[in-house]
Amino acid sequence: MLKKNYGIAFDFDGVISDVYHIFRGHFWDMFGVNIEAEKDHYNFEFDLKKSEFYEDWWWKEIAVAITQYQHICPPIHESIEALKAIYEKYGDITIITAREPSDAVMQVTKLWCEKVFDFPYEIHFVADSKQKKLELMRLGIIYYVDDRWKTAQHLSEILDISFLFDSPWNRGRKEQLERNVIRVDSLWRMKDILDARLA
Ligand SMILES: [Mg+2]
Repeated sequence: MLKKNYGIAFDFDGVISDVYHIFRGHFWDMFGVNIEAEKDHYNFEFDLKKSEFYEDWWWKEIAVAITQYQHICPPIHESIEALKAIYEKYGDITIITAREPSDAVMQVTKLWCEKVFDFPYEIHFVADSKQKKLELMRLGIIYYVDDRWKTAQHLSEILDISFLFDSPWNRGRKEQLERNVIRVDSLWRMKDILDARLA
């Protein structure tokens, strides 16, 4: 559906794809590390007192877990339904993810999307959060939702509204959110706010 570009986009992991329990299981198997639900497992902040090599291994295992288990990964509750409603109102869905842009990761991610979405979407892969910011700017995105506290704060510099997807791993931060960061408990809530804003 060709519509005006409203500049709306979405993060993937933790917003659309409920991949974190898979990471937890995989990291337990590989490292014997029990990541609690409150921990942001993308951060290497577990005080493991391990070498740099170990940290490197950890990062590589994120891509391994995605490749092995994406096909059994459930969507985040109600996200697909809300995305469909957002699509019907605002046009094609844009996803921007900092998942490793390797062939294997991109392939399993696209297969999953094709299986789960019955509406048009495009997905952009970037190498890290710095690249994510550049990609958002390149695409003219001004409304974006992410589940990482740090990312939502960082991206708020270039967004009209930076939505923080409420999750156990971003509730522990006590620092004040930037003025244009809004915590939402679902994509339905994000849609409500967009509807009010764009009416
Ligand atoms: Mg995420």
